[in-house]
Amino acid sequence: MNPSSITGIHHVTAIADDPQGNVDFYAGLLGLRLVKRTVNFDDPSAYHLYYGDAAGSPGSIVTFFYWPGHAVRGRIGAGQTTALVFSAPVDSLDFWRDRLERNAVSVSRVSRFGEEVLSFSDPDGIPVEITAVAEDRRQGWTGAGISAAHALRGLHTAELTVRYAELTEFLLTGVMEFRLVRRDGARARFEAGPGGSGRYADVIAGPDAPVGTGGSGTIHHIAWSVPGDADQLAKQQELKSAAYQVSPVMDRDYFHSIYYRERNGILFEIATETPGFAVDEPAAELGAALKLPVMHEPARRRIEAILPPLAPARTYA
Ligand code: ZN
Repeated sequence: MNPSSITGIHHVTAIADDPQGNVDFYAGLLGLRLVKRTVNFDDPSAYHLYYGDAAGSPGSIVTFFYWPGHAVRGRIGAGQTTALVFSAPVDSLDFWRDRLERNAVSVSRVSRFGEEVLSFSDPDGIPVEITAVAEDRRQGWTGAGISAAHALRGLHTAELTVRYAELTEFLLTGVMEFRLVRRDGARARFEAGPGGSGRYADVIAGPDAPVGTGGSGTIHHIAWSVPGDADQLAKQQELKSAAYQVSPVMDRDYFHSIYYRERNGILFEIATETPGFAVDEPAAELGAALKLPVMHEPARRRIEAILPPLAPARTYA
């Protein structure tokens, strides 16, 4: 059987300052499910939290590392994924605008590629968008009290801001096998696999945009999805043949990952759909307990003593 190519977005990972404020915003206000509570595998003194739909399905996942105390603030700019863009039911934007404004989040509304989009910022200044999408059969998480008529259904597109768009587009349409959907001014939309919401990448040409720097308040990387390990290994080989520096496969417990930078410097990852978040706790209890990777389990008591307490998400009207 031929290996599968990239099927869409797997997750987006960003860096925030304060875990509690982040949980309140993404799980409380936006109503995503906290699907995994773990630590940064490379620095177990800091949380790594995952949000998504009920199961944490690929394409629904946003994850955060925490660099507290404004230690290193990043700057959003070229060479980064520059927004978290969610899909929501087509008639839900008034609900979202009211909910956000009632909770002191200022919102603007724009039209793009024929879609209506609400645009705002999270507590760290990371741009967040909610796009009204007619064709998206994914089910949002309703466990946070937001009905299925309004619940966010997952990521819609990946917004990639670059100085030299043709370099990123060449990679997307070449080794990564995306197809151009449409182009409007500086923005071009591509799609992977069967296409549709959750499988898009928007390349925004910003030839004069300041180059972004990493740190809290920025998106760290975007991960693309492949079904399994054989598909990932095939992509790793193709990327190497195209002279990209690709990492070895890394075991992230919930998926396996390879990393590489596209030519404008955006960190890309390719992650497997398997094994998923129910590998170390029951699907009904995702995110309830602190889960540690096996290598850090012997230090659990010490890690628990260092991590700041994390209360359940605030409820919002
Ligand atoms: Zn990742």
